[in-house]
Amino acid sequence: MYKLPTEEEIRGAIYGAMKKKKSFPSLTSLREEVLKELKKLDASYTVSLKRTRILAARSGFIRVEVKKKHTNKKIENCPVCGGKLEKIRNMSLLGEKIVIGYVCKSCRYKSKVNELPLRYSFHFSR
Ligand SMILES: [Zn+2]
Repeated sequence: MYKLPTEEEIRGAIYGAMKKKKSFPSLTSLREEVLKELKKLDASYTVSLKRTRILAARSGFIRVEVKKKHTNKKIENCPVCGGKLEKIRNMSLLGEKIVIGYVCKSCRYKSKVNELPLRYSFHFSR
């Protein structure tokens, strides 16, 4: 049986993983190391990629670099941490205000209007 660690425990494991390796080239590699840290607390602990990504993005001690791909989908919330997005507007040639991109209030993720994350890398910023 798997058990789910608390947010605090995951945050601690992320910190431990970042302190050891300083940066990770992908979400999968970060999660692998975080899982190793968690298993020191409890061998039956597990954590999903999504939860690792969200908590890493919101940690305050990690800079997330995002490679993006083109999309036609509308995004409602931050695709990195699930936080609230603020619209970046610009004036069009016709004098209309148009949305050209987004910035996330909680993790500072920034993108153009037709972009979605493709790959992540994580860097210790402390
Ligand atoms: Zn975000």
